Amino acid sequence: MNSRELLDSRRQLLKSAGSLAASLVALPYAGLARAQAVELETVRLADGLVAVIGPNANVVAADSTDGIIMVDGGHASWSGALLRTIDDNFPGRPVSALFNTHWHTEQTGSNLALGERGARIIAHENTSLWLGTEVWVRWSDIRYPPLPEIARPVTTFLDSGSILLGDREVGYGYMRNAHTDGDVCVLFPRENVLVTGGVVSNDGWPVIDWWTGGWLGGMLDGFDSLLALADENTRIVPGNGPVMSLAELRSQHEMYLTIFDRLQTMLRQSFGTEEVLAAAPTAEYDAAWGDPEQFLTLAFESLWGHLRDAHDTRLRNIA
Ligand SMILES: [Zn+2]
Repeated sequence: MNSRELLDSRRQLLKSAGSLAASLVALPYAGLARAQAVELETVRLADGLVAVIGPNANVVAADSTDGIIMVDGGHASWSGALLRTIDDNFPGRPVSALFNTHWHTEQTGSNLALGERGARIIAHENTSLWLGTEVWVRWSDIRYPPLPEIARPVTTFLDSGSILLGDREVGYGYMRNAHTDGDVCVLFPRENVLVTGGVVSNDGWPVIDWWTGGWLGGMLDGFDSLLALADENTRIVPGNGPVMSLAELRSQHEMYLTIFDRLQTMLRQSFGTEEVLAAAPTAEYDAAWGDPEQFLTLAFESLWGHLRDAHDTRLRNIA
């Protein structure tokens, strides 16, 4: 086999690895089955900057002198439609950079296609680590294969900062242990657009992926970081659902503070998950946000590694 054939077979392998990854990806979250029929809504946020509202994740695309900068790439099942939509909005412009706000498949579905085209993939170091290994998420019992090397981040960071991409200074903020352990928001200061990543969900209850490092208290800290970055004029693009205002972000923050307070009280009273669900600590919000069972289960169980219940045997033994 000559080097050309070797290269071709490697590309074939990468392609099959990619399609295998796509076909193995079950949608882990209740309510996401609607991803079957792809409807992508494009919202123009400023000159040369659009949000694409997808079925289970949002994407932002901004023009620069280097090419298009994307924040997240949707799920592999609708990556093709997404990339066509981006091209419709910015005809003939290549995608030069792609931020992954965290490792979930709803954000990283265009990594392979864009990595193969030479886009620079940028993410928190923890996101890069998850993408480089098989992830067996215990609470969903779903295994996610690693992405091929060409689909993984090449520029990683450990803390907040900013990066010059073409003529654009783009800010990124690390939100530690929130939705996962690699969440970042991305800020386009010139247009005052803030992309929250998975920490904010605006079309239903969020997922708190405690297996890869998320927890409800960290999500509240994430809200604090986002609120500090936004002002009355900021257009806030959440991980899912419609574009938000600062007032809407504040109102969600209040809601999660209330829920956090109730859940930590229940933990200290030694409630089990079933008792939490029976106590309906989200009752007044459920009409707007839907069935809370998955959210409450994950949110409550996410407390276990961070807060101690009054009857914790380890504490009793120490005392
Ligand atoms: Zn996510």
